[in-house]
Amino acid sequence: MARGLWFLSRAVGRLRPLLVQGPTRGFSASAPEQLHVCVVGSGPAGFYTADRMFKGHEGAQVDIIDRLPTPFGLVRSGVAPDHPETKIVVNQFSRVAANGRCSFFGNVTLGRDISLSELHKTYHAVVLAYGAESDRLLGIPGEDLKGIHSAREFVWWYNGHPDMCDLCPDLKNTESAVALGQGNVALDVARILLRCKAELATTDITDYALDALRGSTIRKVYLVGRRGPVQAACTAKELREILGLKNVCICIKEADLLTTPADEEEMRNSRIQRRVYELLSKAASAHGGNNYNDQKELHFVFFRRPTRFIPAENGSTIGAVQLEKTVLKGDEVTGKQVAVGTGEFEDLKCGLVLKSIGYKSLPVQGLPFDKNRGVVPNLRGRVLSSESETATVERGLYVVGWLKRGPTGIVATNLHCAEETVASILEDDKKGVLRPPSDSKKHGRTGLLEILEQKNVRFVPFSGWEKIDSMERMAGQLRNKPREKITTWDGLQKAANE
Ligand code: NAP
Repeated sequence: MARGLWFLSRAVGRLRPLLVQGPTRGFSASAPEQLHVCVVGSGPAGFYTADRMFKGHEGAQVDIIDRLPTPFGLVRSGVAPDHPETKIVVNQFSRVAANGRCSFFGNVTLGRDISLSELHKTYHAVVLAYGAESDRLLGIPGEDLKGIHSAREFVWWYNGHPDMCDLCPDLKNTESAVALGQGNVALDVARILLRCKAELATTDITDYALDALRGSTIRKVYLVGRRGPVQAACTAKELREILGLKNVCICIKEADLLTTPADEEEMRNSRIQRRVYELLSKAASAHGGNNYNDQKELHFVFFRRPTRFIPAENGSTIGAVQLEKTVLKGDEVTGKQVAVGTGEFEDLKCGLVLKSIGYKSLPVQGLPFDKNRGVVPNLRGRVLSSESETATVERGLYVVGWLKRGPTGIVATNLHCAEETVASILEDDKKGVLRPPSDSKKHGRTGLLEILEQKNVRFVPFSGWEKIDSMERMAGQLRNKPREKITTWDGLQKAANE
């Protein structure tokens, strides 16, 4: 039997009790009416949505599809390996997946294996939770030089995302790396570059990344922000962690810490900004001037915006970033302090650049998309036909997570976001405005399985992921780490099929 069909027969086997368990929508008053929901994306936003659907509707059947063979999205491929406490949430998500009303279909790509309109016809509600898998661009000369990567690519590389296992960033030919941006992702990549490798060795970082980091010649990391220390986008906990790294000298110019009345006002309005500023000030005075030969250096560079990437002598790899000094000005419309160039430039030499200026969501065919904001226009999670005031609601189509609100917030932010979207679905269901699937016999899971079978899509069920999980844990045990990730598409598919 073809592998895809093998998966199919197992999934149908698991499905059968569900099919006989309760009547379909509108057939009986005694059993709960079934509500077929498809969630696209199995990261935190997707799993919190499924969880809230089960709690809010006793007839909800939720199918989660994901383009990867593995579930959990950013928790697996985004959260830093040295933040295991953030990953504990997968236990909660696994309990959701174990609910008899939930099914996982890994290795299924929306837009390639199945279209939005096919899903729309098959389910009462489709919830898009596929996040932000691309990057904002700076749009400055030299952006495609070798040695320049987005932070997302670098993070996916060390976290073993199968799309980036071959990135091979060159960490050997330079002593300086530049991270552009001062958000938590910039702090993550800087910390991974600087952290003591013995500490990293006991995490779930991939072996190839650990080897590359062990051989790294990078001693100095520059975190470059276009605004000042009051506006640094990181949070206090993450900042405190990087400031406390063993054997790393923190370099901050005292002059950058001077504040204006507008800065003081910002800090009065935001406890996080005040805390971040205080931590940076304390670090500047604590570390002032002390440097030892074997120490690595972390430089916080403020009031500089990148204007050009300058090639090294070979003409093809990055040699330096040209930075323009900036001053802050209040924006007339938003009142927010924005960076304005002064026309004064300087070059910062480096052999590696990690652009950490934010992730970007991508649209799929048939999905309304606000290109400027990089989100799906929506009203409390209900997808709108456009971002204009006259937009109409797209019946049965919902959005959650980064695709709904942009690439901001921590894992838990998605819980509130999912609650809002699920509340909209439940409200629409009560009002009877959800469109019934077009073929009443092939709706929900049955319909999805039929489409996948017709297209010969080899999907990976949750039991396939459990096999991957157990192999990774066993391989990790041999290396005294929580898991050794399988990092190739082939490897993952083989492991799921064992
Ligand atoms: P972010 O927090 O939005 O930070 C983006 C950074 O890029 C800011 O410093 C921003 O500066 C800068 N930037 C944007 N456009 C730029 C440009 N054209 N030129 C120069 N600089 C530019 O994004 P992120 O770091 O990717 O993080 C995404 C979300 O994930 C955040 O909410 C973050 O807290 C979360 N996260 C959390 C953790 C954690 O909790 N441990 C870890 C990783 C990520 P401006 O402020 O001037 O725009």
